[in-house]
Amino acid sequence: MELVEIGPARAARAAGPDRAARAARHLADLDAAGRRAAVAELGQPGYRADQLSRHYFGRLTDAPQDMTDLPAGVRRELVGALLPKLLTATRELTCDRGLTRKTLWRAADGAFVESVLMRYPGRVTMCVSSQAGCGMACPFCATGQAGLTRNLSTAEIVTQVFNGARGLASGEMAGGPGRISNVVFMGMGEPLANYVSVLRAVRRLSDPVPDGLGISQRAITVSTVGLVPAIWRLAGERLSCRLAVSLHAPDDELRDSLVPVNRRWKVAEVLDAAWGYAAATGRRVSIEYAMIRDVNDQAWRADELARLLAGRLAHVNLIPLNPTPGSKWTASDPAVAAEFEARLADRGIPVTVRDTRGREIDGACGQLAASGGDRT
Ligand code: SAH
Repeated sequence: MELVEIGPARAARAAGPDRAARAARHLADLDAAGRRAAVAELGQPGYRADQLSRHYFGRLTDAPQDMTDLPAGVRRELVGALLPKLLTATRELTCDRGLTRKTLWRAADGAFVESVLMRYPGRVTMCVSSQAGCGMACPFCATGQAGLTRNLSTAEIVTQVFNGARGLASGEMAGGPGRISNVVFMGMGEPLANYVSVLRAVRRLSDPVPDGLGISQRAITVSTVGLVPAIWRLAGERLSCRLAVSLHAPDDELRDSLVPVNRRWKVAEVLDAAWGYAAATGRRVSIEYAMIRDVNDQAWRADELARLLAGRLAHVNLIPLNPTPGSKWTASDPAVAAEFEARLADRGIPVTVRDTRGREIDGACGQLAASGGDRT
């Protein structure tokens, strides 16, 4: 796909020729019928699929010894065949007094991905990766600099949430036992460039137990650079997920350089698709805007953004730029950012400023450039 060509050809790590997911098959890849068929292939009755799914999605266990309603031999066989270990945590970093935790995962083929768990009063948000690396080449994003390694499988995406949920349920995180309430596809990768696996992951995350983890779709956010055909396709899926569009500039001239895929799909087309999504789902679209000093933070750009969004089902999320190593850019001056925010608010555009959780552990926006655990 042309999109991949835009990215630098530096996808050295474990890149396969098709860049498709290469993980072993896992229970979380399959829907109910697929799970029954997989169990039947192993010569087991269909209800075993249900039992296994209740352990995995409901009790958050993949350990044979916990599955006491299954005969011991069957447990080992089912777990061996359908719950392979896809991701191994190779590094864990916490900050914000234990309320933010970043995990670096190594997949079976050596690809690295990261996820971040953030606990707030009344909610816990898991930020997941949809690809190892990313091919979108946004110059301000650490992942974009590294290029695409490969797509993640559905189960590799779900496993990030499963592991977070299990750790949280067992009280591993500061604040006591809890549940994941929100999932955002804002880790590594462009979720809509891995459409099928991401969509299946949304279903596995949101279907009620035993079919999935039972997280409300309303609390799941898919964030995109603006792959227009994929946004339209998503709008037709009858989901109630939130869509976030990483706009970062209201004009094509600047957006062409900040979000290179804009050379293919212009601001107007991206926003058209976003409004299509809003109309289909009734959900307010989140417009992401990283505030970059003297690059996209001028008052006239705030006014232009307000003009584009006026009367739309939209909300602007301003993100102070998190400078990546070696970047020539930095975050907007706070007074300039405040002026930008005020200009939007004055024109009736709902606007918030995103918090910067996880900065010290490179777990904040755009910092997920998995270094294979070799960083000190
Ligand atoms: N590919 C998806 C998800 C990526 S990350 C997308 O682009 O939407 C989620 C958000 O973090 C995006 O809005 C992205 O533009 C933003 N981001 C990336 N690098 C950043 C940085 N260095 N500082 C602030 N935000 C950044």
